[in-house]
Amino acid sequence: MTARRLVVVGGSLAGFRAVEAARRAGFDGEVVLVSAEPHPPYDRPPLTKELLDPDRPPDIPAYLPGGAPAYRKLGVGLRLGEPARGLDPDARRVRVGDRELGYDALVIATGAHPRRPAALPRLPGVHVLRTVDDALAVRAALDAGARTVVVGGGFVGAEVASAARRRGLPVTVVEARATPLVRAVGERVGALCAAAHARAGTELRCGVEVVGAEGDGRVERVRLSDGDTLPADLLVVGVGAEPATGWLAGSGLPLRDGVVCDTTLSTGADGVFAAGDVMRWYNAAVGGETRLEHWSSAAEGAAVAGHNAVTDGPLRAFETIPYFWSDLYGARVQFVGVPDGDRVEVLGDPDQGRFAALYHLDGVLVGVLTVGWRPPAARFRALVRRRAGRGESLALAARGLA
Ligand SMILES: Cc1cc2nc3c(=O)[nH]c(=O)nc-3n(C[C@H](O)[C@H](O)[C@H](O)COP(=O)(O)OP(=O)(O)OC[C@H]3O[C@@H](n4cnc5c(N)ncnc54)[C@H](O)[C@@H]3O)c2cc1C
Repeated sequence: MTARRLVVVGGSLAGFRAVEAARRAGFDGEVVLVSAEPHPPYDRPPLTKELLDPDRPPDIPAYLPGGAPAYRKLGVGLRLGEPARGLDPDARRVRVGDRELGYDALVIATGAHPRRPAALPRLPGVHVLRTVDDALAVRAALDAGARTVVVGGGFVGAEVASAARRRGLPVTVVEARATPLVRAVGERVGALCAAAHARAGTELRCGVEVVGAEGDGRVERVRLSDGDTLPADLLVVGVGAEPATGWLAGSGLPLRDGVVCDTTLSTGADGVFAAGDVMRWYNAAVGGETRLEHWSSAAEGAAVAGHNAVTDGPLRAFETIPYFWSDLYGARVQFVGVPDGDRVEVLGDPDQGRFAALYHLDGVLVGVLTVGWRPPAARFRALVRRRAGRGESLALAARGLA
């Protein structure tokens, strides 16, 4: 192979999977994994699930047990705790701290940073939830019996609310829109998820914004746009994330809500590929340009980017039917495809927390949500991929729910 040094910037799911893929492709040169975080790569979905579970120990969900020595054994040098600060693709150099790191091949896997509304001060007790350190701080507050307010009715917020209710603690979710989860699952199904909050004893305040938080040395109160004030010892901000591209300013790489790539995940700069939450590309499987923030697409795309970065052979193309999962008060939620149907049909019993929603556009299946049962996602992904008709998808969901 021509490449001798692969540098991967971003030490999480996409970064780790890109390294694995490069080794699988036969790359035996030097690998350097640069990460802003002080921890070796670990998994994020458990941060709001197992790590907040009062019945489990708060273990860090590492990808490769054994820490830095295990990486050394694989021939991977970890540069932890220091973010990359710049990229010069002509000179093939990444700036890390005040040093330059040369590469033959580069994978950009810097993921996304959580949004932080300017109105919220950096007071103790106010947390975003993206890293293991964030999760441990939130868990400590919940274990201490915090009254919790969650800003944002998305899945991360819902999982924090679940963790609070598991402990019998009071929790309020504040959502600016009229219905939670509209972007992820659409309005009709978002309303069903709102009912799940109510059944679990979570107070849901929709159509209201958090406009401030205050307290004496730590958060004590949260102010809402309707003039109300909520008492709080813990305020968790879950209002989405933005691609971590700040360090690429001035690099000349195409940046537009993410690093824009072609279908092989090449950025257009020699030897430079991207993967994971930071990457935007034309996804032929759904016929549009997109950036996903799902575990599966990050893992699958990184396998392609890592291979393509080091191979001297033909490049692989990446396409995927989007898939994510979450947990809602103990019920597994899975979503396959996109929530863009002109017809949404609900099967099963939402009041019992066991149902499916099928999204059809012009009679073709484009999305499937399941709650409270666990059909193999691959089955519905295959249906969406081959644009199954209504009869076939309804029959499969009805059989699964029977
Ligand atoms: C709390 C939580 C729960 C989730 N649960 C689910 C779930 O249940 N199901 C699901 O499908 N998806 C879930 N996701 C989404 C999923 O975890 C992400 O899609 C996945 O982590 C993306 O991986 P990534 O490697 O692209 O980015 P990230 O995981 O964001 O990792 C990027 C890494 O790059 C580092 N970095 C950033 N900038 C720099 C820089 N300049 N230099 C060096 N390093 C840098 C970051 O510190 C980070 O370590 C969840 C996400 C979160 C935060």
